[in-house]
Amino acid sequence: MEDWQKILHRSITAIPDLQMHFGGDMHGLDQVAAVYPLRINPYYLDLIRHAGDPLWKQAVPDWRELADEVCPADPLDEQRLSPVPLIVHKYPDRVLFLVSNQCAMFCRFCTRKRLVGTPAMRITDELIDRGIDYIRNHPAIREVLVSGGDPLLLSDERIDAILTALRAIPSVEVIRIGSRVPCTLPMRVTDKLVHLLKKHHPLYINTHFNHPAEITPESEEACRRLADAGIPLGSQTVLLRGVNDDLQTIRTLMRALLRIRVKPYYLFQADLTRGTNHFRTPVRAGLEIMRGLYGHLSGLAVPTFALDAPGGRGKIPLTPEYVLEYGDNLVFSNYCGEICTYPESGDPC
Ligand SMILES: *Cc1c(COP(=O)(O)O)cnc(C)c1O
Ligand code: SF4
Repeated sequence: MEDWQKILHRSITAIPDLQMHFGGDMHGLDQVAAVYPLRINPYYLDLIRHAGDPLWKQAVPDWRELADEVCPADPLDEQRLSPVPLIVHKYPDRVLFLVSNQCAMFCRFCTRKRLVGTPAMRITDELIDRGIDYIRNHPAIREVLVSGGDPLLLSDERIDAILTALRAIPSVEVIRIGSRVPCTLPMRVTDKLVHLLKKHHPLYINTHFNHPAEITPESEEACRRLADAGIPLGSQTVLLRGVNDDLQTIRTLMRALLRIRVKPYYLFQADLTRGTNHFRTPVRAGLEIMRGLYGHLSGLAVPTFALDAPGGRGKIPLTPEYVLEYGDNLVFSNYCGEICTYPESGDPC
């Protein structure tokens, strides 16, 4: 067993162990964990400072997960958009390829919480081969997003085999891995892993940090190794009520990501996934946060605020309104709220 596997093996997966660690009343939470599995590895557990803090909320089951009767289980209609198992084909030029049903921790807000870590997500070598065949037979696919679960929880050998098979398809130009490991189990990013990943360029990794307290010397080191191997890093952050839904937290997070060489890519409006309704924030709150980023922070630190449209209709960018009036003179406000104009036609002088 590798060191990271030993750490993962010592994860808390049962409510009584969680209760022993934190104390407090966890009555009834075993019912939640029976539906949506619990896993908090010792590394992430150490980052939680006290019950109810932003990292706790991401990791510890909540009775509201079972009380949610508003949201659909599969809001993005991934079932309908799946031509063969493990493939979600929504956009013409890229597909999602779900190769792992395990994660370094099970996030309570996960969009695929109905599947991840449960027997409902069955992944076999044969199904992976069928997915690769599908990609080979559809040359319009230029980019493959290898995701899950977390693909970096597979063994080095399995990761290498999947990436090698994808690289053998001439129409696949870019491979993108989605992994929360740099945040939730940074010791998984071993020199050996990085060495195998960099054989498969052009390779991008989008990771997922939600709070400045997740940025530690360990996660910084994981990102440094990946970036030094020439892998561009992005972050897909989710806006979560009580976790990061205030301007100061998001500003600090975006700046810190840039410092550890991770480009903020998306800031997601929370999906309508069943069991996660208590994390949702109003879209307006996200737009207000974005207004506090544009111009105030380096453009490199500003993500695209996006909503993944229900029913699998794709990601919609949401931008605060700066234009006040379209016409011969465009009237708009700048990042400080000052009104400015720009002559569209006629003699500007
Ligand atoms: C999010 C997503 C993608 C990637 O979209 P980008 O905007 O390129 O990041 C691709 N396929 C599916 C099914 C997705 O949900
Ligand atoms: S790491 Fe990603 S896929 Fe895994 S539980 Fe968290 S959000 Fe879901």
